[in-house]
Amino acid sequence: MNTYNRLSDLHKDLLGGKFTCMDWVNQHISAIEASKDLNIFVEIFYQEARNRATVLDQKIKHGKPGKLAGLIVGIKDNICYKGHGLSAGSKMLNNFESLFSATVVERLLEEDAIIIGRLNCDEFAMGSSNETSFYGPVKNPLDTSKVPGGSSGGSAAAVAAGLCQVTLGSDTGGSIRQPASFCGLYGLKPTYGRVSRHGLVAFASSFDQIGPFAKSAEDLAKVMEVIAGSDNYDATASTKEVPEYHSKLKEANKPFRFALLKDTVDNNGIDPEIAEHTRQYAEQLKKEGHIVEEVSFPYFDYLVPIYYLIATAEASSNLARYDGVHFGHRSEKAHDLESIYKHSRAEGFGLEVKRRIMLGTFVLSSGYYDAFYGLAQKARNHITSEMKSLLAKYDFLISPTCPGTAFGIGEKQEDPIQMYLQDIFTVMANISGMPAISIPTGTHSNGLPFGVQLTADYFAEDKLLQMAERSSSLV
Ligand code: GLN
Repeated sequence: MNTYNRLSDLHKDLLGGKFTCMDWVNQHISAIEASKDLNIFVEIFYQEARNRATVLDQKIKHGKPGKLAGLIVGIKDNICYKGHGLSAGSKMLNNFESLFSATVVERLLEEDAIIIGRLNCDEFAMGSSNETSFYGPVKNPLDTSKVPGGSSGGSAAAVAAGLCQVTLGSDTGGSIRQPASFCGLYGLKPTYGRVSRHGLVAFASSFDQIGPFAKSAEDLAKVMEVIAGSDNYDATASTKEVPEYHSKLKEANKPFRFALLKDTVDNNGIDPEIAEHTRQYAEQLKKEGHIVEEVSFPYFDYLVPIYYLIATAEASSNLARYDGVHFGHRSEKAHDLESIYKHSRAEGFGLEVKRRIMLGTFVLSSGYYDAFYGLAQKARNHITSEMKSLLAKYDFLISPTCPGTAFGIGEKQEDPIQMYLQDIFTVMANISGMPAISIPTGTHSNGLPFGVQLTADYFAEDKLLQMAERSSSLV
């Protein structure tokens, strides 16, 4: 099947009449059918995608197609699409149907994107490998014995396998950037508030952000222009104007100032090849005329604990609504109100989600609140102000996206601490709310891809996208 890495190339052919939108959709449906063993899709919207293709073919001939005309998009199974299933990878929401569409979905449809299905993910977006999903793990299309990363594993695998040109995921602690790194893709976590969270199943509301995966910075930019912006349904969505990111992609604001976070590359837990590659990337930037300095950011031992204290606290509160009464699976065993709650939650949630609810409830409980949750909030403020002062001096922070490449399915499943350490470099952007991008610059001697992560100041997605565009030719 013909696939495109850039929307502009697709548009040349599709809008130029080389093939119809219906052919395009059918090609994708066949490819999706042929790769069912990867377990990427939870549901394919066959009829709907074909109906939209019919309308769009007419529009291409006689009307004015939208900015994303014919772009085949998949959405993570925690983003609402009216009249379609939504399960957040959980038995708890098996058979649930969305009553409204997320703002991002409305905006994609308005610009004539074709949403082709919903994508497997870790249960309630909790995980780093897609193995906590009720539907089972997704296989990494680049090596099917490996995980695609998580929690947006299906979103990353769909793009890597060429089944969607762009997908949406959500990133609470790294769930866009880590799978992007594992699957050799570009993945952007926008500034907290840049993209509306209306219609995203809440995990940890002060961290959650929706963002795109793609094979080019151009596609990230074009999708961001459509999905970002203020929203009356989300009070945390910023009213700041959304720039035309794609037209700024080649703007040369040289030289930029980069801070290489030396505690990430001089870290015992990191794969030495990834550390070396990140240094080389920084060297290459210097050769290009940028200013690169090594800076110390000695907080990496604290970031994962801060994240897991706050994220589990927020999750325990957000997931209280799934009780078999307000929302979610209701147990057959239930006979009164209390047993509805108990049995429904015991049967509906998987192990990892239960672990998080218990931990979150504990850190919020009286007597422990100040010692855990309160302290984590103070530490969060401290990290944020340290990051702000670094970004007052530098345009970007450089680090690896992850400490390793994609690991084997089942390899880390029994060890939550190992799994949580996947997030060591990604959670800082969620803790501070800053935007960060994973750029696919590396290939390991084991044959697997990995990324470099750049973090920038609030609302500097334009600069991140420019660097992503330029980095394709850097290393
Ligand atoms: N791996 C992290 C976690 O399990 C991040 C998840 C996410 O970003 N949704 O919480």
